[in-house]
Amino acid sequence: MIIMDPNILFKKMYHFYGDQDWWPGEGFEIAIGAILTQNTSWSNVEKALENLRKYDLLNPKAILQSKDDFLKEQIKPSGFFNKKSKYLKNLSKLWIANSNPTRKELLAVKGIGEETADSILLYLLNSPEFVIDTYTIRISERIGLGSFHSKSKWKEFFEKNIEKNVSIYNKFHALFVIHAKTLCKKNNPLCISCFLKEDCLFGKMREDSI
Ligand code: SF4
Repeated sequence: MIIMDPNILFKKMYHFYGDQDWWPGEGFEIAIGAILTQNTSWSNVEKALENLRKYDLLNPKAILQSKDDFLKEQIKPSGFFNKKSKYLKNLSKLWIANSNPTRKELLAVKGIGEETADSILLYLLNSPEFVIDTYTIRISERIGLGSFHSKSKWKEFFEKNIEKNVSIYNKFHALFVIHAKTLCKKNNPLCISCFLKEDCLFGKMREDSI
């Protein structure tokens, strides 16, 4: 059951927050950021990217040639650096062989899951793949857009209901992130101040219980 048309949701969020200018960075740096941001905040990723920039390590060849310990040291601020250094090397290897990989090829790389693959495809390769993250699911469930048991089902839902358009998908994902961080917070959503409270199942429930 669709309570609110996701296209209306997009328009309301865009009207409220405006353009978010995502993704920060350009070229292969976007793919590096998509891996480094796994399980950490973007501020930590920025520190790691700054280190990589300092040593000219924002390209696949340089990453592949870098010594493991040196690479780990540079990406340490983003956490899980042992794993992430391997993931960066795995992706670099693929990229050198094929800098325009398909979703299937990306998902075959160890360390690249659906969210990372779709971020790379959307923001770096301009392919209309809807990025589903925990923010998107949290907000969509609270509003009552639907109820699905997996990220891939949510992806199907958005791609079926929203025009396949890189610019819209790009903006929509960024809007989910900013809304989750400012109003629709995990533990304490600020429903009273939320511009979506009239459209939101969770927001209405909270209002009724006051
Ligand atoms: S009303 Fe509350 S639960 Fe609904 S979108 Fe706004 S902050 Fe989130």
